[in-house]
Amino acid sequence: MAPVNNLSWPATILIGILLGLVAVGAENSGAGEDEPTAGPSATTSPGSGGGPASGDGGSDDGSGGGSGDGSGDGSGDSDGETNPDTGGDAEDYTVTLTFDDGPHPVYTPQVLDLLEEHDAIAVFCMVGQRVREHPEVVRQVVDAGHALCNHTDTHDEKLSERTREQIERQITETDEALDDAVGGDTEVRWFRQPATYVQPPVEAVLDDHDLEPLDWTVDPRDWSRPGTASIVQEVLEQLEPGAVILLHDGGGDRSQTVAALEQILTGLDAAGYRYVLPGDP
Ligand SMILES: [Zn+2]
Repeated sequence: MAPVNNLSWPATILIGILLGLVAVGAENSGAGEDEPTAGPSATTSPGSGGGPASGDGGSDDGSGGGSGDGSGDGSGDSDGETNPDTGGDAEDYTVTLTFDDGPHPVYTPQVLDLLEEHDAIAVFCMVGQRVREHPEVVRQVVDAGHALCNHTDTHDEKLSERTREQIERQITETDEALDDAVGGDTEVRWFRQPATYVQPPVEAVLDDHDLEPLDWTVDPRDWSRPGTASIVQEVLEQLEPGAVILLHDGGGDRSQTVAALEQILTGLDAAGYRYVLPGDP
C-alpha cells in the first residue's frame, strides 16, 4: 500500500467529490434505498449446492478484518500541508474491482454493461457449480476482457477445515468447469477463499495449481443488502490507491450492488482512478 501522507490532499478532495455524487444519487431515488426492481426478484436457489450460496460474507469479515489496515494512520487532515506540487491533475491511482459468487444470468451481464461503459476491467471470482449452470455467462465475461478467479466449487465457507484432498477437489472441479465454459481459452490466475482471506491450509495447496491468493481491502458487505447508498459510501470511505474492492454479482439479489456500482464507477472515473488486475502496476 502506498504511504498515506502525500496522498492525503487529493484523497480528501476525492472523497468530497464522491460523497457529493452519493448525495445526488440519494436525492434522485427518493428514499436513497433502491427500489425492488421489477424483474428477477429473488433468484435464490442456484439449484443444487444446498445452502452455501447465501451470503458470501456470513462469517467472513471477522477473520479478514478487512477494513483495518492502511486507512487509519495518517487520517487525512489535509489542511496543514496542501502539497502544492501535485499540480492538480497528476493523480494516477489504481484500483482493482472484484466480483464474487457468480456467474449469475441476470446480474453478471448488468455488471458487464456498466464496466464497459466505464472502460473498466475486473476479476470475477466464480463458483464452480454455478459455472456449470451458466457457462454462457462465463464466456461473456471472458469475451469482454475480464479475468477469472477460482472461488471453489460449492462456495465452501469451511474450506480451511477440510482435508487437503477435499481442498484440492474444490479447486480442481472449479478449474475444470471454467475450462469447459471457455474452451480452455483463458488462464485462471487467482483463487479467493469463500468468506475469508485465504488461510494457510488453503494457501499451501494453491502453488500446486498455479493460483495466487486474492484477498481484498475494501468490503462494503454488499451481499447483506444494506442499501445502495450504504454500499457506495462504505466503498468510498475505505478506498485508497491500490485498493481491492470486494463486490458480489451472484449468490442472491444483487440489484443494490449493480445500482451502487454505477455510482462507484462514476466517482472513480472522476477521481482519476485506473482499473487494473491484481498486482498490475
Ligand atoms: Zn463468495
